[in-house]
Amino acid sequence: MRRTSKAPSIREPRTANRGLDRDGQRVQSPGFRVLGSDASAKQITALVVRLLDWFARHARDLPWRRTRDPYAIWVSEIMLQQTQVKTVVPYWERWMRALPTLRALAQATPATVHKLWEGLGYYVRVRNLHRAAQQILARNGGQFPQNYEEVLALPGIGRYTAGAICSIAFNQPTPVLDGNVVRVLARLFGIEGDPRGRKANARLWHLAAQFVWCAAQLEADTPRPTPRATPPLSDATHHSAACSHLNQSLMELGAVVCTPHKPQCAACPLAGDCVALHNGRVEELPAPQPRRAAIARRYAAFIVERGGRFLVRQRPAGVVNAHLWEFPNAEAGKGGNDLATLAERTLGTKPTGLRELCSIRHSITRHRIKLDVYVALVEMNLRRRLVSGRWMTLAEAERLAFTSAHGKIRQRLMAQAGAARTRSRRRGLARTLDA
Ligand code: SF4
Repeated sequence: MRRTSKAPSIREPRTANRGLDRDGQRVQSPGFRVLGSDASAKQITALVVRLLDWFARHARDLPWRRTRDPYAIWVSEIMLQQTQVKTVVPYWERWMRALPTLRALAQATPATVHKLWEGLGYYVRVRNLHRAAQQILARNGGQFPQNYEEVLALPGIGRYTAGAICSIAFNQPTPVLDGNVVRVLARLFGIEGDPRGRKANARLWHLAAQFVWCAAQLEADTPRPTPRATPPLSDATHHSAACSHLNQSLMELGAVVCTPHKPQCAACPLAGDCVALHNGRVEELPAPQPRRAAIARRYAAFIVERGGRFLVRQRPAGVVNAHLWEFPNAEAGKGGNDLATLAERTLGTKPTGLRELCSIRHSITRHRIKLDVYVALVEMNLRRRLVSGRWMTLAEAERLAFTSAHGKIRQRLMAQAGAARTRSRRRGLARTLDA
């Protein structure tokens, strides 16, 4: 385990029992152990012990917590960015079955990795994951780097993810600061201001570093139990893998106890020291992000079928959802085109009829998108004028990664085809019975 030789400048508090009132003024809080703006190593170590103890008893049994394999932990961390745990679990399990090693990922085709990611969104994540695996295979022979700076230099890995991998997989005292940890620390220490702002953010990172550094010291000062390849979570009470468990405990507390709304302070191991709880400001901290106004956008997609095959196309490199597949579509309302003109411009020829199939609503960042889907009828003699693309059956389309909205169209067409087959079987059966 890599150890720091120097504490990240933890200053001793000038007075004890300090908190902030509603106007941000310091108040004395006799009998209540709220933390001040500075906390001593001793104070933080006491919090670390409580966090480790709480984590040992309450951590959720998530599949990536049963391993120390840096590759498996890396995949989970990338999937968990902007995606909820319950969504990620089946994706992670399927991914690890299909690509169990870093070498398997590096050697997989882009189509395979996109298909395994289909539905998780933010596909730049999976492209970076693939690229980073290829770099590691080329440079380190497939051995995941253990040096923080080397991990940080990989595509798609920022300060948080590098800290998470190095602490969780290698038990290094590297801090993590995601949305959950920000919430816990901002409330615990009563930190004002935008957590992304320079001053508040630097303070939060500093605190996160203090916590994990104290966990490392605690582990160094505690006799180690017999080392195990993958210490179970209950070992957290014995301070084995303390950096790993401490960082996970902060994230876990923010995810299940110190939630954005209605946090369960009564069940929180840090409640006795929490500035926000003491000052009745739990719902106010951390300061909310300024919300950017949502932008409404409307698209139309056109389904063209030819003998059981559908016209689809692959999105080019360098655009949103690059390399994913979709049905021909265009943004509506631009240039004042009516639907027939839009269909002609999108398909390359004028359809003889348009039948509404469904509407799909979805969001990408702050864009609220309504996608109207039409079945376009195109005469046989005009089909050679259609835009280029690939003609494929729905079964072939199912094997490729579609954008999430167009994946829903594909599912809808498959459901329709299934219902049509059932109706036809029933009619056949009825005819047989009548005969
Ligand atoms: S006491 Fe409440 S607000 Fe404070 S850290 Fe715990 S859950 Fe969060």
